[in-house]
Parts: sequence; structure tokens; C-alpha cells
Amino acid sequence: MAAPPAESPLILISNDDGIDAPGIRALTAALDGLGELMVVAPAQEQSAVGHAITVRMPVRAHERTMEVPSGTVPAYAVTGTPADCIKLAITQLTPRRPALIVSGINRGPNTAVNVIYSGTVSAATEGAISGIDAMAVSLCKWKAEAAADYEAAGRYARRMAEEILAQGLPPGVLLNVNVPDQPYRDIRGIAITRQARSRWEESFEARTDPLQRPYYWMAGTFVNLDEGDNTDIEAVEGGYVSATPLQLDLTAHDHLQALRKWTW
Ligand code: MN
Repeated sequence: MAAPPAESPLILISNDDGIDAPGIRALTAALDGLGELMVVAPAQEQSAVGHAITVRMPVRAHERTMEVPSGTVPAYAVTGTPADCIKLAITQLTPRRPALIVSGINRGPNTAVNVIYSGTVSAATEGAISGIDAMAVSLCKWKAEAAADYEAAGRYARRMAEEILAQGLPPGVLLNVNVPDQPYRDIRGIAITRQARSRWEESFEARTDPLQRPYYWMAGTFVNLDEGDNTDIEAVEGGYVSATPLQLDLTAHDHLQALRKWTW
């Protein structure tokens, strides 16, 4: 890769599908030339680990490179979670403080309650905790077995990364982006949305292992409980890229006063 000018922003790229996932390769290629890129991502898939961190065993960072159209960018495969990757990257691995963290492109939606379980979002959250602008990008591809097409998501990731670099996000706010699984020409634009209310209706497959011991495998059905407007799910279903600002402050501010009136 040709050396970018010294003032070129450093963009740190991570994910939860693992450093060998097609989505992070597509994202890195899509951001080629936008700044100085560095990839620090889990060595193994870490989907649905949420904001887990590794504190009872060491983590290792294996140096490698990732190919982009203009050449290669430095990359590290980390034996930890997405949150570990960001913490390690910004304290040990990056040459300077990143201007932006982009996590993804996740295979599968991170709309609604999925935000809570998502490792993709957590990498971006960790950036926001450290005061670095951050964005999570997910492709709303429901069927995991089919080959995913990350082209549209990559193009929108680049557009939105440019806009964040230009505008800057408010402190404590990260952007959660969900891209419809459609060709770029069919996507209708970007909608600024709120997180839909939803839950998973859990179901467990109960089976028996070869030693005749029972085991359970979590499955479940996603249930959208939100009929309101401007949700992330509604936007994606309508063919829009959903961009939801998320905040670190989970306090239910509207309920502080009512709770203070209880007889404690
Ligand atoms: Mn994932």
C-alpha cells in the first residue's frame, strides 16, 4: 500500500465473525484509501459473545496482513473477543490513536435486541467507551448457508465512515448500521432509526450424547414486538440502510423520578 499522507486518519477495523470471515475482508477492501487501515480481529468466530472480555487467560496477537485492492494492510489475529481486540489494539498495537473504529461486516442482522448479544456492536461500543468514533456494520442476511454479497454493505460502510470522519459523533454515541441484503442499486438510501423492541422466543433442542448424557442446543425464533415507526427493522424491511445511534448510558432516565418516590 502506498504510504498515506501523515495526516491520514487511522481507521481500526474489527469484527466478531473472525479475521478470516469474508465480511471483514470486504469491509477492509471497501475502506481502502480512506485512511491508514489496520485490522485487529478475533482469530476465531466470536458471534454472540456480547461485551465479554478475557481476564483469566492471556491473549495473543498473531501478526499478518490483509489484502486490499491497493496492496496490503497490517492485521492481527487476536485470541480473544471483539472487546479484547479493541482494548489491545488501542493500547498496544496501533501506531497512534485511531480516528475511527469500524466493526463488521457482520453476517446477519444486528437490529433490535440483537444489539445486546452482538460481538460486532461490542467492538464499536468499546471504541465509544474509549472516546473514539465507532460504527458497527451488519448485513441482514438471514440464511447463513448461502454465500453473502457484501458489496452494497461495503459501499455504504465507506460512505458512512467518510461522513463520521467529517462530522464526528457525539461523545458516548456509536452508530449501529444494518444493510438490507439487496443489490446496491435496489437500496433506497439511509434511514436514521431507533432500536425496535423485540425478543427471542427461546427453544432448546434436547439431545443425547454418545455417553447417554443429555445436552441442549439453543435455537429460537426472533419476535418483533414493535409496531411503531422509524425502527431499524422497519427500515431494513423497506429497503433502507438503517443507522441507529446507540449510547453507552443505559440509564432509564425517564424513570428516575418515579423510582425515587417509592418507599425504599
Ligand atoms: Mn457475527
